[in-house]
Amino acid sequence: MRLDRELACRDIVELVTAYLEHALLPRDRERFEEHLVFCDGCSTYLDQMRETVAATGRLEPAALPRKLEERLLEAFRGWSPA
Ligand SMILES: [Zn+2]
Repeated sequence: MRLDRELACRDIVELVTAYLEHALLPRDRERFEEHLVFCDGCSTYLDQMRETVAATGRLEPAALPRKLEERLLEAFRGWSPA
């Protein structure tokens, strides 16, 4: 996967699984982490994904409660770019 632009919150949501599986290229991983520095919402999202993985031992997007995912996506939509 190759990313030629700054990451948006929706990209983070899509990439979080690859990130946790260490499947991102180093430069993409860097961008992912840069986004987390200034984005509390995505930091929280990543934390919750990590907790889910720790609790279930699995890494599946479906493991994230549907309601939580909707709430996060809703929150992301309300934000303006930094
Ligand atoms: Zn974000």
